[in-house]
Amino acid sequence: MNGDENMNIEGFRKSLKDFTLEKPEKKPKENYVNVLILRELKSAARFTTDGVEANSAVIRIGNTEETVGKLFGRKQVASDRRKAKALQRTIISEEMNKVVGKDGWNGCTMKVNEMCQRCPECALFGSAASEEGVSITSRVMYDEAYTIRALNAIVEEFFQNAPGDDYAKKPTPGIREPDFFKEGVLFPCVVTLKDVTVEEVLFFLNITDRNSRYGATGTRFGKTQNHILGVYASHREGPSSLEVTRGIALKLAETVQDEDADQPQTMDAKLKQVMYRDTLSVDEVKTIATAVYEEVSERQRIEYKKFDEKAVSGILNELKDDSVVKFQLTQQIEKLKGFVSA
Ligand SMILES: [Zn+2]
Repeated sequence: MNGDENMNIEGFRKSLKDFTLEKPEKKPKENYVNVLILRELKSAARFTTDGVEANSAVIRIGNTEETVGKLFGRKQVASDRRKAKALQRTIISEEMNKVVGKDGWNGCTMKVNEMCQRCPECALFGSAASEEGVSITSRVMYDEAYTIRALNAIVEEFFQNAPGDDYAKKPTPGIREPDFFKEGVLFPCVVTLKDVTVEEVLFFLNITDRNSRYGATGTRFGKTQNHILGVYASHREGPSSLEVTRGIALKLAETVQDEDADQPQTMDAKLKQVMYRDTLSVDEVKTIATAVYEEVSERQRIEYKKFDEKAVSGILNELKDDSVVKFQLTQQIEKLKGFVSA
């Protein structure tokens, strides 16, 4: 879908008709809505599992191996789910009370076996077996996301000097503070919605637009901005986050000019140079990420219908109004009758 068209929710609904369901169904089909997102750190963030070391992974790009930063899929899911549940409590508590009846809706929870299994969030993101033994399979698929730059270029380690020891040159291992990912770090991410309704696509886009915290819940560090670069509707699943990250690093390396035309640098050398840069231009990466996503899709013979960043932002603008979000979620509650435990 071309960006110069003014996309609104109704236009979006019509264009997505062949790739979405009228209401959630119990048997899987092959409808995918792939969302390409660039998560940008707006302040230093902690992404760590052991509480100290930054999450990382070794990835291979061509012949180059490099350790990069990693944002686990499960951390992205947990954060988005918390946001989605909080939003539901804020705007559809009354509607949920009506559906649940008797004692009313408990507001749902993140506790694995205690989720309400009645709300739009449980229906979309899934829930483990409840007391009644029912479980709902998630229809949102995340994967691990990786930084474009090398870990050494994006992580800051902090050491506390022992008090009264001003001239200490070496940090004492015992007082190392948690690693921080620096501001400006970028995580290209692809999230896939499968067999969903348009209302669920809107819910997911809205949550992604609102969510700005992906770090450990215990800390209050790390503001993130999610740039939604495109929505690609298809009957096949799109490229992974890692494929997009790799492609971006390669394309950036291709633009590195040789200092001496007689002695061209190898691709590996250019790649290293890109991965050790102090900063990357967000606008440049946005453009390249989109191009990479589409090129990889083409190589994998994935046909899609595209809604670009401008089209998506038209829809997000409509969703700024909470009453519009409430209307869409209320529609979804209706559509869930018979799908979730009634
Ligand atoms: Zn729930």
